Amino acid sequence: MRLEFGTFITPGSDDPERVVALAVLAEALGYDLVTVQDHPYNPGLLDAWTLLGWIAGKTERIRLAANVLNLPLRPPAVLARSAASLDLLADGRVEMGLGAGAFWPAIGAMGGPQRTPAEAVQATSEAIDILRELWDAGTRRSLRFRGEVYTVDGAARGPLPRHDIPIWLGARKPRMLRLIGRKADGWSVTYGFLPEGDRRGELRRGNAIVDAAAREAGRDPREIRRILNVTGTFLSERGDAFLQGPPAQWVDDLAPLAIEDGVSTFILMSDDGATLRTFAQEVIPALQERVGAALPASSDLLRPARVRAKRREGIAYDEVPASLRTAAVEPGDLAYARVRNTYMRGGAPGIVLKVSSVAEVQEALAFARRHPDLPFGVRSGGHGISGRSTNDGGIVIDLSGMNRIEVLDEAARLVRIEPGARWMDVAAALEPHGWALTSGDYGGVGVGGLATAGGVGFLAREQGLTIDHMRAAEIVLADGTLVRTSATEHPDLFWAIRGAGANFGIVTAFEFQVDPVSPQVGWAQFVMDASDLGGFLERWGAAVEAAPRALTSELIIGAPRRGQPLVAMVLALVDSGDPQAIVNALQPIADIAPLYQQRVVLTTYADVMANASREDHNGQGEPVARSGIVRHITPRVAQLAEELILNNGTYFFQIRSLGGAVNDVDPEAMAFSHRTGNFVLSAMGASRARLDAFWAPLQPHFAGLYLNFETDVTPERIAIAFPPRVLDRLRLLKARYDPDNVFRDNFNIAPAATIALGAAAPDRDEPVGTGAHEGHDHA
Ligand SMILES: Cc1cc2nc3c(=O)[nH]c(=O)nc-3n(C[C@H](O)[C@H](O)[C@H](O)COP(=O)(O)OP(=O)(O)OC[C@H]3O[C@@H](n4cnc5c(N)ncnc54)[C@H](O)[C@@H]3O)c2cc1C
Repeated sequence: MRLEFGTFITPGSDDPERVVALAVLAEALGYDLVTVQDHPYNPGLLDAWTLLGWIAGKTERIRLAANVLNLPLRPPAVLARSAASLDLLADGRVEMGLGAGAFWPAIGAMGGPQRTPAEAVQATSEAIDILRELWDAGTRRSLRFRGEVYTVDGAARGPLPRHDIPIWLGARKPRMLRLIGRKADGWSVTYGFLPEGDRRGELRRGNAIVDAAAREAGRDPREIRRILNVTGTFLSERGDAFLQGPPAQWVDDLAPLAIEDGVSTFILMSDDGATLRTFAQEVIPALQERVGAALPASSDLLRPARVRAKRREGIAYDEVPASLRTAAVEPGDLAYARVRNTYMRGGAPGIVLKVSSVAEVQEALAFARRHPDLPFGVRSGGHGISGRSTNDGGIVIDLSGMNRIEVLDEAARLVRIEPGARWMDVAAALEPHGWALTSGDYGGVGVGGLATAGGVGFLAREQGLTIDHMRAAEIVLADGTLVRTSATEHPDLFWAIRGAGANFGIVTAFEFQVDPVSPQVGWAQFVMDASDLGGFLERWGAAVEAAPRALTSELIIGAPRRGQPLVAMVLALVDSGDPQAIVNALQPIADIAPLYQQRVVLTTYADVMANASREDHNGQGEPVARSGIVRHITPRVAQLAEELILNNGTYFFQIRSLGGAVNDVDPEAMAFSHRTGNFVLSAMGASRARLDAFWAPLQPHFAGLYLNFETDVTPERIAIAFPPRVLDRLRLLKARYDPDNVFRDNFNIAPAATIALGAAAPDRDEPVGTGAHEGHDHA
């Protein structure tokens, strides 16, 4: 069994910085939780929420709670927002310790209500319901609640907390203990407040009441955490009094409370740094060891019955590593609706393991590997077009919390970026240095998925692909080892992850060499008449190919609308701050067709990328998208695209620029080897069959495809994404780095030994860098 430890700090207002320093010290010493008392009527104390917010900003890991919050002075609907707000800001570190109220005259003096003990219990019960209702990400309607104490008349939802905030109650009396058994996630009590002479007896009797009420309510008593506030003095000599002696005596005093009375969290009430340190260094490890030896892991805290009831088949939920438990999200959790779907695809995973360090990635991966028959997704930004970072009933490792961006070497323009960062944040972080890293056109996309496959964005013609800038990566391989890969360290792996990265492990950090960018760039948005669709596409393609490399453009066409002219949205970025150079670059594009609307501005690259919201993903259903790379928009390609669009084969058709710097790279340099195309076409369809019917005639004109714009994960598509020799090499490497095919739930490259059984032998004479059909498009 793993114990948890917290501190309890007096929030004195005479030296606020000392209070915060104690919390920071607690984090540095490895405590799990920092708590502060809440007596809002006491002029000598800092306000608990304000203080917790400040502590949250000064710490990174430690969890935060009031011990305990004064409910009568904090209306629950407001409390729900306070806690959710802080939980969001503090990245899921908030716990809710609630108290029904005491010191009633002081509460009255602050304008608070007076409550009988029975009313206080009722109020607490209703408050729990209101909090949980307002934190439920699965419901959108506003809350109406008619209780005996509280009425909530249409409270709007949101903000939602980052994680399911556990609610524990501070209590001593039977009525409140029964409420804990029925509803709460924890019981918190101060050992010194229990009747002197029979404190353990009182603790046992309290536990028995909680347990009986829990069973009566159909709960397992092990769902309810027992939290004990303790205080003492470290002395050199052993004595008879509780926690009055050397650290070894503290261990002797506390161990039975954990082993026999089920206490799983000890909170040390002390404002003395030395005491916190001695406890952390000399009591906690010894106590963990003693209790760990006496109690099996199965006596660990259980998730609430309401959560366990919604568990999916085949997942060993109770074996989730301890370090991942707090942040893991299961179908029964209130936060589940926030993490189940991706941007493009609806999902219902059995568990989402949110990780925040390499060690946690390794633990999560080991857990996933114990479930070889389940779907397994790796998520960074959740924007995968194929949507494989969610699934149905399987495991997802979510790296969104690993999102740091740092400059490693200013002179060499070397930056380190973690996979959970979003490209808009990358652009914003690089802007003060005068740099930009080519990525994509949408700031919400995550670094992990894009930078393992390609990266086609608004600087593509000038800077190439995102992967062309990668200089190293840290990757957790299928066997759990962390390796650094670069041109000189595991170079074959480095070759593979630049194009087929999702197949080889979980990248936990990338190093990129970035380029300077003009402080202001030209940014154009044109709405153009595309009635002459085929001709329009051809002219756009020719204009882009003739444009200077500083210009990168894309066009988007939606489904035609009856009675309305067909329009295209043309976007273009010119990396120049010179208005005349921008106009010169854009004019040939503006001339290809009548303009319905145009907007050209001087702005920053980071502003162009700041185009996404941070809302939770709410993709539904199965996306269908196809992609193909062409050298030129030839009359035939334009005609076939016209047929696709005009016959409603697609509701979203897009062409993006490749060419320029993309094609400067040696096709053999990395797994992404399509270095002759000038454009990548992509289309999304409402019907797979209909899209494919119109896509098939285009196929002979394609020189490969870009996996990140695809949803078809069949071997046939993978054989188009990677030319035969490349695929051959990838399969051999896959056999070496992921022989069990752990990373299979995406565009899977079968390990070499497996494919020998059935697939056609790769054509070794095919030069790397040419797709099977490349060269057909010279019409
Ligand atoms: C609105 C939108 C706009 C887009 N615009 C562009 C664009 O302009 N240019 C462009 O090139 N692409 C673009 N894309 C496609 C985008 O590159 C891919 O969808 C990419 O995979 C998204 O990365 P992610 O981390 O957000 O996605 P996720 O869904 O989190 O991941 C996608 C896949 O990548 C793999 N993966 C994720 N993280 C890791 C990791 N750390 N290590 C190893 N494998 C990992 C997994 O297999 C996962 O299924 C766009 C997508 C959307 C939805």
